[in-house]
Amino acid sequence: MIRIRDLQKSFGDHKVLNGVSLAVEEGEVVCLIGPSGSGKSTVLRCINGLESYQSGEVRVLGHKVDNKDESIHELRTAMGMVFQRFNLFGHRSVLENVMEGPVYVKRTPRETVRQEAMALLEKVGLSDKAHAYPAQLSGGQQQRVAIARALAMKPKVMLFDEPTSALDPELVGDVLQVMRDLANEGMTMIVVTHEMSFAREVADRVCFLHGGTIVEAGPAEQVLGAPQHARTQDFLRRVL
Ligand code: ADP
Ligand code: MG
Repeated sequence: MIRIRDLQKSFGDHKVLNGVSLAVEEGEVVCLIGPSGSGKSTVLRCINGLESYQSGEVRVLGHKVDNKDESIHELRTAMGMVFQRFNLFGHRSVLENVMEGPVYVKRTPRETVRQEAMALLEKVGLSDKAHAYPAQLSGGQQQRVAIARALAMKPKVMLFDEPTSALDPELVGDVLQVMRDLANEGMTMIVVTHEMSFAREVADRVCFLHGGTIVEAGPAEQVLGAPQHARTQDFLRRVL
């Protein structure tokens, strides 16, 4: 589904990704962990073509991700992205937020989209908020709408960039539950997170990133339970 080979990315003189390689198979859940500034967000942004890169290769569904290429727009619709900050349209209702992509980007008939959007709101536990506006929702509810909105485009892959980091602690659980459900349904997911218990439970694989390199990768129980590398051990001591 996703193949990254020897990805190198710099901002000016600052090398941010230094040879990242990663393959994600269909239905796999991969968690990216690592300290702030290690390059986690940049990896996700290179995958969905929001960021260019200097060398190496990123392939999604067999297609090369190249943000100078026109076809990136089409490829990007195969990827749903959820960010730390809920990026909902404040002047649109919850339902309209979820309907936006399929109606305006995919040109799917409105009535079809409405039914699918209502089903997605049901799935994330917010069908009663369909006609509310984002500002009337809690952060956790807004984030669940953001997930529903991404799913409305019927993505093949979901990319999550610290989706619960900006939430009050009591709101984190509901968002993680929605993500857990998605994983159990077989969605292919890459999740940048500091929620180690989520990673341990849901991830097929955990990759620890440090200084733009994947220092250690493997099954969650191995990387989180018995890390081999001193940097991983040090990081886990800090966050657990
Ligand atoms: P993480 O998500 O792991 O915290 P990022 O991928 O956001 O790390 O950033 C990795 C490094 O790249 C950091 O040192 C950050 O300051 C730098 N960086 C990220 N985006 C930019 C940018 N647009 N311009 C310059 N430097 C950037
Ligand atoms: Mg980040």
